[in-house]
Amino acid sequence: MIILHDFKINIEDYEAKGKENDFPLLENCPKCRSLAQGNVHRNGYYWRYGINEESEWYIPICRFRCLICKVTISILPSFLIPYFQHTVDTMVGRLSKILNGEEVKGSRQQLAQHLNRFYERIHWIHSFFIDLGYKLGFSKDIKKEAQKYVIMIQDFGESPSFVRRSWGHLSSYFMGKLILPYLSSKKNNSHPT
Ligand SMILES: [Zn+2]
Repeated sequence: MIILHDFKINIEDYEAKGKENDFPLLENCPKCRSLAQGNVHRNGYYWRYGINEESEWYIPICRFRCLICKVTISILPSFLIPYFQHTVDTMVGRLSKILNGEEVKGSRQQLAQHLNRFYERIHWIHSFFIDLGYKLGFSKDIKKEAQKYVIMIQDFGESPSFVRRSWGHLSSYFMGKLILPYLSSKKNNSHPT
């Protein structure tokens, strides 16, 4: 499972710190809730790429493993989106540009895939804002809706905060395809904020 963690630094600084980043400690297992001390162990790292406007970064993702239920837990920096290489800001910025007819560099095919995913997830984004108490309609013009929500996400504050706040809404996450059965949700307070 994935826990999103705000390291309060950008990807460039995170890469520079590497394994010396200030990784959180897990006191209990977010899946089986084992409270017995010492059951959740550090379990090395995996390495992945992250892409922003400036460059491509290669960074370690810290892992934990629960000795009781055997789940592996990854601590994903909140500037990233699970299973995407682009950072949150870069992803949202690129979506905003293409929706406004501006030039976006990089693979056209990949951009189309990201836009399609965003379209697929528009109703989920809509329902998150409704849950927060926003009074919003939803028209049949999907592009218009996408333009509206990309602005709302950008206006939500630093866009990682949108991803963090919406994390676990309807057991899913921003740009997520599958519902994750063991995704930690805000409601049970099982991940560090
Ligand atoms: Zn466990």
